[in-house]
Amino acid sequence: MPAEPYDLLVAGIGPAGMTAAMYGQRLGLRTAAFGDIPGGSLYMIERLTNFPGFSEPIAGMELGAKLFQQTQAEGAHLTMTRMGKLRHIQGLFHAVDDNGQAYTAPSAIIATGRVPTRLPFVNAELQGVHFCSVCDGPLYRNKNATLAVVGSDNSAAQHALTLSRIAQKVLLIHRSGKAQMDAAHADMLSRQENVQRIPGTEVVGCEGNGIVEALILKSHSHESEKLSVGGLFLAIGWRPNTHFIDFTIAKTADGYLETDTNLMTSRPGLFAAGDVRDTDLWQVLTACADGARAARCAGGYISAISKG
Ligand SMILES: Cc1cc2nc3c(=O)[nH]c(=O)nc-3n(C[C@H](O)[C@H](O)[C@H](O)COP(=O)(O)OP(=O)(O)OC[C@H]3O[C@@H](n4cnc5c(N)ncnc54)[C@H](O)[C@@H]3O)c2cc1C
Repeated sequence: MPAEPYDLLVAGIGPAGMTAAMYGQRLGLRTAAFGDIPGGSLYMIERLTNFPGFSEPIAGMELGAKLFQQTQAEGAHLTMTRMGKLRHIQGLFHAVDDNGQAYTAPSAIIATGRVPTRLPFVNAELQGVHFCSVCDGPLYRNKNATLAVVGSDNSAAQHALTLSRIAQKVLLIHRSGKAQMDAAHADMLSRQENVQRIPGTEVVGCEGNGIVEALILKSHSHESEKLSVGGLFLAIGWRPNTHFIDFTIAKTADGYLETDTNLMTSRPGLFAAGDVRDTDLWQVLTACADGARAARCAGGYISAISKG
């Protein structure tokens, strides 16, 4: 199979990558997609409640499996291994998968998502820890909950603002004495009576039986305090998955891939889609939309270079 000359290589089989592979095939591009977890981050979404067309929540895993079947049915080659390395040599993208198998194509799409930064005591099994207020905030609707947000930048402020419309009280906790958010966000927060800021304080642990029920805080004066909370939202950063790209490419200060309006990166023929891209909305819907658009633009790029 890898010997086939491919038109398009897609890294990642989350919503962005699988939609890109599906659209690539439908546009007549011979497409190979790399990844080992069908659905990507979808498997972490217990109940997806904001995907248009599904009035009843759908389990992320179920949507991931359906997307996988659809992509397979369109005829994309799914390697079921990750892209280990991506090089760009004389106008061709050369990928090697984790089994050492080589693939080449004139165009590629990076759709490898991002991973959240966790606090040391937060393991994957701990319940009540979230990374997305738009996604998981509604779980706390009508529960009179006190929710904690950890972080100090605009993104943390946005989470606190979103949750302030849902929770009874929101605690915005950050280690530094001074928040890193801009004045507009600070002003919006100061107008929310149910948001309490706790600067100069570190969250060092939690209590609860496999679920967060209270946070252990340590202030700069080394005083410890325990605060009961209904849920914990972490906004202490994300790391876009781009380490396998073996050439220079324009990124934001946070490591997201910069793209133009056609979702092409600074490297001609290389596109980015979904959470790995410099965007302001990290959702399943926007990832799918990016995937479709990136495939179409990759098709346009291939037509243009083949005409010379
Ligand atoms: C806990 C949680 C809850 C969420 N809830 C919601 C929600 O309710 N509604 C909503 O719309 N969105 C939600 N999201 C956000 C949503 O999951 C993402 O926006 C969406 O999955 C992004 O799709 P993607 O394809 O860009 O990336 P991903 O889904 O992250 O898929 C990328 C995949 O590529 C893999 N990968 C990394 N490197 C490589 C490589 N070298 N080769 C191959 N594969 C690689 C990654 O491991 C990952 O599996 C939630 C996210 C999380 C974490």
